[in-house]
Amino acid sequence: MTIQTRVAGVSDVGRIRKSNQDSGYTGYNLFFVADGMGGHAGGDIASALTTQSLAHIDENYHEASQASKALVNAMWSANSLLTQTVKDHAELAGMGTTVSALLFADTKAVIGHIGDSRIYLVRDSAVKQITTDHTFVQRLVDTGRITPAEALTHPRRSVLMRVLGDVEEFPEIDTQAIETKPGDRWMLCSDGLTGALPEDLMNGILLRETDPAEAADLLVGEAIEYGAPDNVTVVIVDVLPVAADEQPASIVKPSFLGSAANEVVIEVRKGARMLQLLNPRTITDLFTPDQETSSVVPESEEYLEKILKQTKTRIRNRWIRQLLVVLLWIGIAVGSLSAGYSYTQTRFYVGVFDGHVAIYQGIKESLGPFKFSHLYDVTGVDVTALPEYQQSLVADTVSAENLPDARRIVETLALLASHG
Ligand code: CA
Repeated sequence: MTIQTRVAGVSDVGRIRKSNQDSGYTGYNLFFVADGMGGHAGGDIASALTTQSLAHIDENYHEASQASKALVNAMWSANSLLTQTVKDHAELAGMGTTVSALLFADTKAVIGHIGDSRIYLVRDSAVKQITTDHTFVQRLVDTGRITPAEALTHPRRSVLMRVLGDVEEFPEIDTQAIETKPGDRWMLCSDGLTGALPEDLMNGILLRETDPAEAADLLVGEAIEYGAPDNVTVVIVDVLPVAADEQPASIVKPSFLGSAANEVVIEVRKGARMLQLLNPRTITDLFTPDQETSSVVPESEEYLEKILKQTKTRIRNRWIRQLLVVLLWIGIAVGSLSAGYSYTQTRFYVGVFDGHVAIYQGIKESLGPFKFSHLYDVTGVDVTALPEYQQSLVADTVSAENLPDARRIVETLALLASHG
């Protein structure tokens, strides 16, 4: 039996990104999405190169194992191609891509998958995710550290554990072969769809909209309604019933989606940096902050532990930082008080202590229980020896600019007292 399909594919740059780093392919037996990442121009090149290199295996396969082998080998070749391209063009360092592919072999749907793009199967009024994301948060979910709901908003949700183009020569590709039948609907998408759209809405569209082209348009349209912070790519493959005497339609024309549909990518590959600079979009990219949020890290338990430790350290550092801010404020407050107090101690005034004229250091004003002056010197001048007016002046205290000034005031008073 040969599978007959009705197919639709849509790729959109989304509302925030300046370039579409997603690619996709819809062919005869092969369908996939690839979500590129890395650098200013690397992401679109990675997904486009991969797409154009993978498309060559779109043939008839009689055995699922044969198709599976072809898929894995093609993905490994794409991986080498990316590594080699980076070797030739250092400016593309760090580029990589996800691939989620569906290759029909007889009545089997063979899946090849790496990264966080996804494949869903719609069957018997249910939508089921077939692939597992190779993301850091999925690992946290798998190991019971967070819930799937928490994963949706986790700040590290775009950290990938596996992609093509990474340093590894033969990255692990997830494969499965699933019996497919007429009525099945396969949906392949980049994380720009699943990240933007509520699951209920996505499932609703997949279940209700019978025309694959309309369903794909609706999904991408809704993702854009929801803000589409990332590129969005959707491929829908409906498996049709085939009458026994009917020849499978081969009028299908393979088509490339997203950046893979863009010829300039191949030119960039030959001309490297110069051609990238000639691309006006890339020139503006050079002057704006990098919006790339995806990154790839090696997949291992050690890394998982390391990243959790980093997070813990970050939390602790945040506490330390907050504490430092509080201490700094206290410091500033104490500093200004102490500066204020130092100022008061440059001042003197003349008053009375134990019936004698005395010199005080500081200011006579007080703030609640705080006094800003203390007795500096008690003179031999008896207050009662002073004329009445001077007695009341001294009782009210007489401000002095400084110590010599205070001494001068005391000398004047002493003179008055001796004449009294
Ligand atoms: Ca993406």
